[in-house]
Amino acid sequence: MDFALNQEQQMYQKAVRDFCEGEIKPYAAEVDRTGELRWDAIRKMPSLGLTGLQVPEEYGGAGLDTLSAAIAVEELGRVCGSTALSISAHNGLGCGPIIKWGTEQQKQHYLTKLTSGEYLGALALTEPNAGSDLNNARTLAVRDGQTWVINGAKAWITNPKYAPVITVFLRTSTEKTSRSFSMILVEPNTQGVTLHAPEKKMGLKGSPTQMINFDDVHVPAENLLGPEGNGMYQTLETLDGGRISIGALSVGLAQGAFEEAVRYAKQREAFGQQIANFQAIQWMIADAALEIDASRLMVYRAAWLKDQGKPFSKEAAMAKLMASEVAEKVCFNAIQIHGSYGYSAEFPVERMYRDQRLMSIGEGTSQIQRLVIARRVLQDMA
Ligand SMILES: Cc1cc2nc3c(=O)[nH]c(=O)nc-3n(C[C@H](O)[C@H](O)[C@H](O)COP(=O)(O)OP(=O)(O)OC[C@H]3O[C@@H](n4cnc5c(N)ncnc54)[C@H](O)[C@@H]3O)c2cc1C
Repeated sequence: MDFALNQEQQMYQKAVRDFCEGEIKPYAAEVDRTGELRWDAIRKMPSLGLTGLQVPEEYGGAGLDTLSAAIAVEELGRVCGSTALSISAHNGLGCGPIIKWGTEQQKQHYLTKLTSGEYLGALALTEPNAGSDLNNARTLAVRDGQTWVINGAKAWITNPKYAPVITVFLRTSTEKTSRSFSMILVEPNTQGVTLHAPEKKMGLKGSPTQMINFDDVHVPAENLLGPEGNGMYQTLETLDGGRISIGALSVGLAQGAFEEAVRYAKQREAFGQQIANFQAIQWMIADAALEIDASRLMVYRAAWLKDQGKPFSKEAAMAKLMASEVAEKVCFNAIQIHGSYGYSAEFPVERMYRDQRLMSIGEGTSQIQRLVIARRVLQDMA
């Protein structure tokens, strides 16, 4: 068993960290305040492969392994939750299904745009009345000759305003079976598509989350992504990979808050000494060090399993569940260590605490992760 990153992965981690320190971290508070991502930084991302982490090189991507992709998302999360979420969703949800199920023409057309640093990708699964329970999705595509006619609505979608194409999960049959769903590629400027204004959120304010309406939207028949009727299977597979990324993002957020807390504990004085000398503070620091380490190892293991072509669904759910709940606790305690200053927007831990809150909701809530884990355990031990 080898716990070390290989030399290439270590070099990549350092390069991404340096980029994040120079191009993202100094602007994270501004991204949060203005609600706009820093496109000057995103346009530079292709040189590090950040806009095409696992996209094959022939379409402009970096063709990296899952572990390297997780490391990159962790580094982004360490400095800016908004940027990290948009880049994670872009790679895993936006590019992922097209890499896996796109035709050569779809890949040439869309992946080359998506890796250019001028766009971000999006996947629309959730609906106003269906999040965890995607079987309840109602958006419907009806085949009319050489076109699909789409009607319905999607909610809480990351990145649509920057997307050249949105992968939409929808019904291609009204029958109540898991084979009634498909994925169809829809360009947001198609007539009948309405992108609503970004939601006003608690955190991750720079990452746009939008509702989308589809009113008699006509798209060519060849925009079907993968085989008709495979949408539910494609979604579950995509979310398994996405959970590794959200786990990595959670580790990054926790790591960022932890570093801020340690720095503050060493400089703040109370009762004539550094607060870092108090055992109550040391225990929060020790717990954070321990739990971040455990979460990171779980994320790396899930990524490694995926790279080995082994089953990783349970391990990805475990990693996401663990890391997101650790991020909550670490960011909570980072504010505690800062006292009142932690409650002030002047200190980054306030933003990090708000940003991390999504991690136990998006790409499957903690309750749904427990369902996935329990199902696997019960199956394995039957
Ligand atoms: C910032 C942000 C970005 C997002 N980005 C995207 C995106 O890019 N694409 C996309 O498609 N979606 C996106 N989402 C949506 C997100 O994935 C869903 O909100 C999430 O899956 C939960 O669905 P829901 O909100 O409908 O909650 P619900 O499914 O209504 O759940 C409500 C509560 O009930 C619990 N619950 C539901 N079913 C069960 C069960 N069987 N057992 C136990 N408890 C249960 C849940 O855990 C939760 O606590 C995003 C959301 C946010 C906030």
